[in-house]
Amino acid sequence: MLVDNIGELVTNTDGAGGPLGIRRDAALLVEDGQVAWIGPARDAPAADRRIDADGAAVLPGFVDSHAHLVFAGDRAAEFAARMAGQPYTGGGIRTTVGATRAAADDELRATVRRLREEALRQGTTTIEIKSGYGLTVADEARSLRIAAEFSEDTTFLGAHVVPAEYADRPDDYVGMVCGPMLAAAAPHARWIDVFCERGAFDVDHARAILACGQAVGLGVRVHANQLGPGPGVQLGVELGAASVDHCTHLSDADVDALASTTIGCMCADGRHTSTVATLLPGAEFSTRSPYPDARRLLDAGVTVALATDCNPGSSYTSSMPFCIALAVREMRMTPAEAVWAATAGGARALRRDDVGVLRPGARADLIVLDAPSHLHLAYRPGVPLIRQVLQNGVPQCRS
Ligand SMILES: [Zn+2]
Repeated sequence: MLVDNIGELVTNTDGAGGPLGIRRDAALLVEDGQVAWIGPARDAPAADRRIDADGAAVLPGFVDSHAHLVFAGDRAAEFAARMAGQPYTGGGIRTTVGATRAAADDELRATVRRLREEALRQGTTTIEIKSGYGLTVADEARSLRIAAEFSEDTTFLGAHVVPAEYADRPDDYVGMVCGPMLAAAAPHARWIDVFCERGAFDVDHARAILACGQAVGLGVRVHANQLGPGPGVQLGVELGAASVDHCTHLSDADVDALASTTIGCMCADGRHTSTVATLLPGAEFSTRSPYPDARRLLDAGVTVALATDCNPGSSYTSSMPFCIALAVREMRMTPAEAVWAATAGGARALRRDDVGVLRPGARADLIVLDAPSHLHLAYRPGVPLIRQVLQNGVPQCRS
C-alpha cells in the first residue's frame, strides 16, 4: 500500500528536516505491516492500494507510554469537588480499587477495549497499560492478563497505594508485592512501576519493590515527584529506569541526574538507555496543579516524553493531541518538541525503536492529519484532526 501526496511527513529520523525529520511532497510504502520505503512522491513505486493524503501531514502514530486503563467505576464527583476547591491527594485511588475488585473480568475487559479504541481513534497506535487498581495477588494478576490482551507494554503497579486492609502494616504489603504478587504478575508484565510519593511508597520501599522486579527481568519505571519534591526521580536514575513519570517538582540535582543519563546513552546494539522524563500534563490540568517545567528539562538536555496518564481519578483523557496542546501552551514546549515527545519520546520511554518513527523497517503505525502540518495539533486545540490511522499497516478508521 502506498501513502501518497503527503504534504509534510514527520519521520523523527535524524538528518535534514529538523528534529522531526520533516520531508515534503513525500510518499511512503507499506509492506507486511512495516514501512518499506520513503521518498519523494514523484519516485513512488507502484502499489496494489493507495491512500491519497491530499497534501496533508502524516506523522508516526502517538506512543502513549503511561496509562491506567484497567479499572471499574468513575470519579466524576471527585473531579467536581476538586474543581470546587478540594485539593488532590491521591487518596481517591482506593475508591477505584474497591470498584475494580468488585468487577467481573468482562467488565474490566470492556473498559480497556473502549478506552483503547478511543485512543486509537485519536491516533495512539502504541499504549502502555498498568495494573494497580487490584492490589491483591489475584486482582493484580487478572488486571495484567487483561491488559496484555491489548498491549505488549504492560506494567505491574501493585505498589500504586497501600490498600486499606494493610494501612497500619505497610511492610507486610511490600513483602507481599515482592513475593506472591510479583510472582503472579510477572508472566504478564514487561515493566514494574511504583508510586514513590508521600502517602504512597517511601524511597526504601520503592527501591526494594523495583529491585525485586528487576531481579525477575522487568524493566523499571517510576511515578515520581508528582505532588511534591522527593527522591523518586533520583531513585529511577539510580536503577536505570526507562522513564520517571510526572516530574512536576524537580530540584537542580534531579534535573542534573536525568541529564547525565543522556550522555553516552546508546548501548552496543544502538538502543537508547537514557532515563526519559515523561510529563503528564493531563494530570496537572485535571487536578488544577502547576505544570512541570518542560523547558528546564529540555534545555538541560533531558529526553522528554508526553503521555496521557489516562486514569479515572486524576487525568481521564486518552487524547495525545490534547496533551500536545497543553505542553505547548502551558509547558513552553515548541510544537515540534511536543510532537516528538508524543511519538519518538514515548518510544524511548518504552525502550522501543520500532515505533514512534517512520523509516524503512519500522512498524507502519501512522496518522494522516486533517491538516497540512503537525503545528495544527497545538494550533487547533480540541479539534478532531486525526483523519486516518494505520496500525501495523492496517487502516483503522476514517472519520
Ligand atoms: Zn500514573
